[in-house]
Amino acid sequence: MKVLVINSGSSSIKYQLLDMNNESVLCTGLVERIGEEVGRLTHRIAPDTEDAKKIKLEQPISDHEVGMTLAIDLICGENGVVKDKSEIAAIGHRIVHGGEKLHEPTLVDDAVVEELEKIIPLAPLHNPGHLAGIRVARHLFADVPQVVVMDTAYHQTLPPKAYMYALPYELYDEMRIRRYGFHGTSHGFIAKEAARIIGKSFEEFNCITVHLGNGCSMTATKEGKAIDTSMGITPLEGLVMGTRSGDVDPALHALLARTRNMTSEDVDRMLNKESGLKGLCGMNDMRDIHAAIEMGDEKAKLALDVQTYRNRKYIGSYMAVLGHVDAIIFTAGIGENDYIVRRESLKGLECFGVKIDQMNNAQRAAEPLKISTEDSSIEVWVIPTNEELAIARETKNFVN
Ligand code: ADP
Repeated sequence: MKVLVINSGSSSIKYQLLDMNNESVLCTGLVERIGEEVGRLTHRIAPDTEDAKKIKLEQPISDHEVGMTLAIDLICGENGVVKDKSEIAAIGHRIVHGGEKLHEPTLVDDAVVEELEKIIPLAPLHNPGHLAGIRVARHLFADVPQVVVMDTAYHQTLPPKAYMYALPYELYDEMRIRRYGFHGTSHGFIAKEAARIIGKSFEEFNCITVHLGNGCSMTATKEGKAIDTSMGITPLEGLVMGTRSGDVDPALHALLARTRNMTSEDVDRMLNKESGLKGLCGMNDMRDIHAAIEMGDEKAKLALDVQTYRNRKYIGSYMAVLGHVDAIIFTAGIGENDYIVRRESLKGLECFGVKIDQMNNAQRAAEPLKISTEDSSIEVWVIPTNEELAIARETKNFVN
């Protein structure tokens, strides 16, 4: 069974075709700069094998339909990984925000499209791009079942005490203002992988999952269900990220409006695009930050300290809400590759019985890697995330 996973953004479409009989990746691709003067398509065939091949196209790509058609021409046909698009059994669409109503994987129909349109105010940067991808895919693959898989789904099990803000209740009643949480597909994937590797049933598994990429978030899972998470109504709350501030005093908006005449758009842009690691030291890639620290850059060191200190505070608070913790799991670009961030984020947790094997921690983790010692009371793992595979699995389960 072949499943096509589509992650359609406002000006880009990422896709991956998987053979779900053995979960191998047949091809992946990225269509970028849709609507700009020159667009680009990068298509990779059998990317995880020795026979990997790359095809690059540069040409105007006026809209999502043109981009998707170019991709389909590379996926299917004479030199494609499938001969005909009828070989694709199902399509899974990644959706960042499903609001309160859409959580389980759901077959796309007009009602789902309408619901996603309604949620646009909650995810103005993401949902319009998803909708463009869905419209085109429904047109080009009219007979293929299409499933939406929501990034907010895994956190639907949060109890009200974790998802409610202490705000006037009518904001929830009338506008559904609450915490939703994001990166759910990734948190759910690595939490389940960790339970499987450690050999515990997921229903009895308690863990803290730490997703550190450009966006960063943390989730507490108790007995197989998410009970708290660091991101909120938008993916801005919580940890310090590449360009996003994470938690700040909510009075900041009013203060900057009064003292600097900043509009709400100005503050929003600053918190999302000019803050986080970049705000503190001018760099948002952790590799550059380490290089700068080596050269004695104090702001770069401060950025690392602020991020890892926040990580540690959240890990500690999730230990408190979980009580017993089986595992702490790191993932994503920084979480998988950066042993210094992991070491600093776990510092001070020795008093809770967390013991790290620093030799193991310093290794690269292309495969799941245990970085705690045998006598650590909590296992600590690095597990590469794979959101596309998780979406393909959900899509396959749903269609079956
Ligand atoms: P996204 O949130 O966009 O999916 P990723 O999970 O790919 O992001 O993470 C991207 C970030 O991971 C980069 O900005 C960089 O800071 C970090 N990163 C990637 N590789 C390394 C590495 N080898 N060492 C440290 N940080 C890394």
